[in-house]
Amino acid sequence: MQIVARAKINLGLAVLGRRADGFHAVDMVMQTISTGDLLTIEPAETISVDVSRPDLPGGPENLAYRAAALLQKVSGFRQGARIYIEKRIPLAAGLAGGSADAAAVLKGLNQLWGLGLSPGELMELGSALGSDVPFCLVGGTARARGRGELIEPLPPLAGRGVVLVKPAFGVSTPRVYHFYDQLPPRPPAGIEPLVVALEQEDWSGLCAALVNDLERATLALHPEIAEIKEAMLRAGAPGVLMSGSGPTVFGLCADRDAARRVAEKLDLPGCWVDVAVTV
Ligand code: ATP
Repeated sequence: MQIVARAKINLGLAVLGRRADGFHAVDMVMQTISTGDLLTIEPAETISVDVSRPDLPGGPENLAYRAAALLQKVSGFRQGARIYIEKRIPLAAGLAGGSADAAAVLKGLNQLWGLGLSPGELMELGSALGSDVPFCLVGGTARARGRGELIEPLPPLAGRGVVLVKPAFGVSTPRVYHFYDQLPPRPPAGIEPLVVALEQEDWSGLCAALVNDLERATLALHPEIAEIKEAMLRAGAPGVLMSGSGPTVFGLCADRDAARRVAEKLDLPGCWVDVAVTV
């Protein structure tokens, strides 16, 4: 079977504080986008994971492998699977590429192995693998709270254009949170205006309400990101924000054609640029 494991962007990310377990409590609005990895999954005697890019480990270190191994362990299923990942989502980008792959493997193997696990059971396994995996299992437009695993669907925002720009470097999410904790505290961003804009289908309100508390940490570490944001605004994107812990910046546009026009105006050598739609 073949599955597209789609990336996410954060329309909103508020950091509410640090929890006793070391995770940060967050309040996020997540959105699936069309950009995705292509996974090919076939029955095999043992689990194996191969990847199209040399800088990402296949095998047991890969989150897709860990998802398959966890499913095998909890189900007691005796067969394995051969998994090939055609990687299209950039690494360490704030786009949840690893989580998307893990979610696709959980869903795909539940079907291929005929396990019959419920969506709730898959969500529980997903949250053990990573905070963004539960959202990737559900997809669409959703609010994510707790450490990101408590998912509540929101009115869908489908068919909007998205320009993605990632500088040549990646960032480590734990490092960004660690740095965020050193910054002078500020009250968390308000997520409610985003939710209201989605509920009222208020496009300009939505673009104005995009917010990410982690921007000030990642931007302090990598000032180039501010330049990318400015370039995106100058190119005419109505809403511009860094996704997750970065460094990818997205420009939200009315539709795919508008996103294409913005992307064509960008002159950012060395950056990965992609045009997608919200799904
Ligand atoms: P998030 O937005 O959830 O913080 P991210 O986009 O910043 O995620 P990922 O690319 O998902 O980061 O993963 C970060 C690290 O996880 C990678 O640098 C890589 O070492 C490791 N990893 C393990 N398996 C995978 C996978 N299948 N795809 C991508 N990264 C993986």
